[in-house]
Amino acid sequence: MLLEKSKELFKKGEKNLVGAVNSPVRAFKSVGGVPIFIDHAKGSKIVDVDGNKYVDLVLSYGPMILGHRHTKVELAIKKALKKGYTFGASTSAEIKLAKMVCDVFPGMDKVRFVNSGTEAVLSAIRLGRAFTGKNKIVKFAGCYHGHSDALLVAAGSGLATLSLPGSKGVPDEAVKNTLIAEYNNLESVKNHLDKDDDIAAVIIEPVAGNMGVVKPSPEFILELRNITREKGVLLIIDEVMTGFRSKFGGAQELLGVEADITCLGKVIGGGFPVGAYGARNEIMEMVAPLGDVYQAGTLSGNPIAMACGIATLKELKKQDPYKFFDKKAIKIKEMLMKSAEANGIELQVNHFGSMINPFFTSEKVTDFKSALKSDTESFKTFFWNMMENGVFLPPSQFEAWFLSSAIKKEDMKTIKAAIEISMAKVASSKIQSTNNK
Ligand SMILES: *Cc1c(COP(=O)(O)O)cnc(C)c1O
Repeated sequence: MLLEKSKELFKKGEKNLVGAVNSPVRAFKSVGGVPIFIDHAKGSKIVDVDGNKYVDLVLSYGPMILGHRHTKVELAIKKALKKGYTFGASTSAEIKLAKMVCDVFPGMDKVRFVNSGTEAVLSAIRLGRAFTGKNKIVKFAGCYHGHSDALLVAAGSGLATLSLPGSKGVPDEAVKNTLIAEYNNLESVKNHLDKDDDIAAVIIEPVAGNMGVVKPSPEFILELRNITREKGVLLIIDEVMTGFRSKFGGAQELLGVEADITCLGKVIGGGFPVGAYGARNEIMEMVAPLGDVYQAGTLSGNPIAMACGIATLKELKKQDPYKFFDKKAIKIKEMLMKSAEANGIELQVNHFGSMINPFFTSEKVTDFKSALKSDTESFKTFFWNMMENGVFLPPSQFEAWFLSSAIKKEDMKTIKAAIEISMAKVASSKIQSTNNK
């Protein structure tokens, strides 16, 4: 696989961009080698600057659920572009997208649009603190909620990849109100709630996707809802990744829980920067201009982004690809398991709807600790062989793969062939490294 032009751009980019990227995972640090630069994408495929074509299972880390440049979405964007880019005053598109979102989240009367998932979550936390009059929050190890100070503790995603405990530049005061619990471990939450009466909210990814895909056990998520309600602690469900991924609406409905505050992002912008947080009236009416919780944004509710979000959700509703996603994810899981077995490789595959992810480990992955037992060297070999064979994967063991509704039969064939070759390569590289010891 030729990556000459990507290599060249990477060198050039390093001069004025930090690590030649604008988000760390794009630098391919945990898999080594040259990070690819993209030229264009269409449907299920993405093409790099050297002309290598891949089936795209990154999908910009989630937003491109219909595949790239869906005709109807593109049309809606072009139409919006002609009217202007941003006005600093409201447009009808914001009302329309707000209704589409509130209609499918039972606990959401009102929503506020922002520009990213990070912004959605940090605003939701501020609101949760204001509503309860309390200061602390509980988050789960391995869950990622964006890069705001208070949430950069035991976070997954890029931090899991880089093995950083948190981040420099975050003062102790900023995280002293953040308590950590273990995913799928109710006792670890109870411990905090029983001991501390200054807890405003518990925040969780309903299905974790930033330590690899980790599902909650039904008892865990249901009991979490019960104990937070009993204690008068808000449950903030961060659906930035899961929203509109596994059903038209939220994972919380599938899991049978209802959030006090829901955070959204990724899919609802269809590829443009949109985040959102929403809740019942009683909570949302505390936000300015109705209430005293200040939160604002020059480009929030941007008309082009709203048009893209509306068109994406409309098409998604029409296509209703969720059974299709489940089927394809199960097929890919089977491909992975079969080839792992054929090559004597220990593998766990977790999936939820269109999120899927293999862990190179012999133990079930149910939390951050078990996820971290994965053999990242094997993932590295697997990753580069998948790339060589035409499948673009997130360049980290701890990022979910995503499926788009644009996936075709021949893409599945490409994925299957790539998996078979890559697993065999993982097996042979393991033998080699054992021999070298
Ligand atoms: C991606 C993500 C975020 C952060 O969203 P950005 O748009 O990258 O700021 C927050 N929470 C979850 C669960 C995410 O997956």
